[in-house]
Amino acid sequence: MKREILGIKFDDLTREEAARRGRELLEEDRFHYVVTPNPEFVLAAEKDAEFCQVLNGADLVLPDGIGVVYCAKILGTPLKGRVPGIEFAEDMLSCLNEMGGRLYLLGAKPGVAEAAGRRILERWPEIVLCGTQDGYFRDEEAALLKVAAARPDLLFVCLGAPKQEKWMARWGRHTGARLAVGLGGALDVFSGNVERAPEAWCRLGLEWAYRLRKEPQRAGRMAKLPLVLVKATAARLKKK
Ligand code: UDP
Repeated sequence: MKREILGIKFDDLTREEAARRGRELLEEDRFHYVVTPNPEFVLAAEKDAEFCQVLNGADLVLPDGIGVVYCAKILGTPLKGRVPGIEFAEDMLSCLNEMGGRLYLLGAKPGVAEAAGRRILERWPEIVLCGTQDGYFRDEEAALLKVAAARPDLLFVCLGAPKQEKWMARWGRHTGARLAVGLGGALDVFSGNVERAPEAWCRLGLEWAYRLRKEPQRAGRMAKLPLVLVKATAARLKKK
């Protein structure tokens, strides 16, 4: 079931349900893409019609940020919970490991995808890492050709939003992959360069606060987030 939050239609799934659906997509013989919007995406999509369309055109739209869950509650259409992109990514790696499938990592600064790949193979040794490429390419089509030549089953696209979503919608079906997932800074986490918040912080819905403490330069970006709650409140009042 879909829940619309300020124009973005989210899938209302638990982590387990999302993983089950993801596995089906990975097993089906055609291209699919998954997006993991947080409140920043929702605000950006309000001003960028193409981004909004690309998000709503995804096969799965997973609520990555706690802010999205709060918005859904304010709007009177609560979601089952958040499904962090990084956790969905881990679940897809477990599926791929069982299949002995091929993984391609696209994005982040030079060297990061390779480091992430090494750490992923330590944890999921049956995966075939068929290629990596940093996310600072000039030519989108040339980047695509490299991915397609590696014949991946699963593709992580980590270029930041909205670049990664637009890249997947435009080029994804030419990669030959069955599933592409837009994952922002996930390769920085998989590589060990950036630490994820401890579980207790995540359980309290405070992952954003932990991230802000570690990366204070994000304060400007995060300051916009209460705006999404204000917008949700205004939308709810208008509905009444
Ligand atoms: N990035 C990239 N190419 C670009 C811009 C960004 O590969 O042209 C990478 C960047 O190095 C980082 C990720 O995209 O690894 C974006 O991370 P961010 O923290 O913005 O994403 P979030 O996790 O907040 O969605």
